[in-house]
Parts: sequence; structure tokens; C-alpha cells
Amino acid sequence: MNHPGNLFVVAAPSGAGKSSLVKALLEVDAGVHLSISHTTREPRGQEKHGREYFFVSPDEFDALAAAGGFVEWAHVHGNRYGTSRMAIERRIAEGGDVMLEIDWQGALQIRRRFASAILIFVLPPSLDELRARLQRRGEDAPEVIALRVRNAEHEVAQAENFDYVIINEFFERALFDLKAIVHAQRLKFAAQKSARPETFKALHIA
Ligand code: 5GP
Repeated sequence: MNHPGNLFVVAAPSGAGKSSLVKALLEVDAGVHLSISHTTREPRGQEKHGREYFFVSPDEFDALAAAGGFVEWAHVHGNRYGTSRMAIERRIAEGGDVMLEIDWQGALQIRRRFASAILIFVLPPSLDELRARLQRRGEDAPEVIALRVRNAEHEVAQAENFDYVIINEFFERALFDLKAIVHAQRLKFAAQKSARPETFKALHIA
């Protein structure tokens, strides 16, 4: 039987650079599949249904949740976001690696449901730097930035519930760290045996 794939979960406060890191990883690692979440929020800018998110109405979201269609879901910044069971279970069962880019509440729900999930928290180097990045991004009004920084003060404490912590001070270094975590999971005994059965057979390893 195939060794099941890895389920990576990446969470971070807004502005810590989580999306850029995940995007850069996916560009160089075709083996990682990013799960597309459902959300009740409106699309922003160039976002497309089925690419960044599945954009659904609150009623559609509730119906899916009631039918057990989500492996986790949470309220984030006034909207609902969820990971659909379909988006991940089959791929993992087939041995593929899946990455979820979700908030910390969803990450902890995933941990309860999938004990082998690998939880990664991305921290900014400081709250001042987080504020400066949100200001440079220029997407949010000053009061929204102030709220996000206040929220971040609580969110960063969640890092202690995660397996790995990446401090995104220098982007290339943080990307290296993320790649290292993904790579290390693929070097585990069961994963190697599943990926290279002929080598293990030739070496008479059970
Ligand atoms: P945004 O609206 O800026 O794309 O995302 C807002 C927040 O919701 C981010 O922290 C993002 O990671 C989180 N998020 C996106 N998809 C999901 C999901 O499926 N479940 C949970 N719990 N959070 C999500």
C-alpha cells in the first residue's frame, strides 16, 4: 500500500509573509499541492473563483458545513473560511503532499483530526516590522493596520502549539527553512520506502 502523503499546514499573522513563502515554494516544488479553500468573502482584484478560493454565499457555505464537507472551518476577519474534505483526502491517500494556508484556529482543528499533520507557524521578526510591512503593502487603511497588529500580538502566542516555527526576517532564509521542513518529511523511513521500493527490496529491508 502507498504511504499516505504529508499534510502541511502553514499559519501566520497577516503581513508575516506566509502567502509569498508558500507561492515561492510551489514554484519550485511541483510535488506540493495547495488546497483551495471555500470562503464567504467577496473576491478582491484579479481573484478568480476556483483559483484563489471557491467564493460561495453564506447559505452555500452553511449547507456544505452541515453536510460535513469541511475538515475545518473558522471565522476570520468577519468572514467564513473552510477546507473541503474533497480538496485534500483523496490526494493524501494517494501519497501526494498537500499544503493548507489557513489561520491558526483552522490549523488546530486539523491537528485534532489528522494527528500526523505538520503544523508550521510563520512569525515576523517583530511587531514593528509587521506594522512596517503592512504599511508598505498599502492595501489597508491605518485603522485596519492597527487592528491587524493588535490581533497579531495574540496570534503569535499560538506558535507554541505548532511543530515548526519560521521567522521571516530574510525571505530567502525563510524559504530555505520551509523547503527544509518539506524535504525532511520526505526522508522519513516510511516515505522513502514507499518512494523507492526497488532500492529497499534490493537491500532486503523489510
Ligand atoms: P484572505 O481573505 O486575506 O485571503 O485570508 C484571510 C485569512 O484566512 C488568512 O489568514 C488565510 O490564511 C485564512 N484562510 C484562508 N483559507 C482558510 C481556510 O480554509 N480555513 C481557515 N481556517 N482559514 C483560512
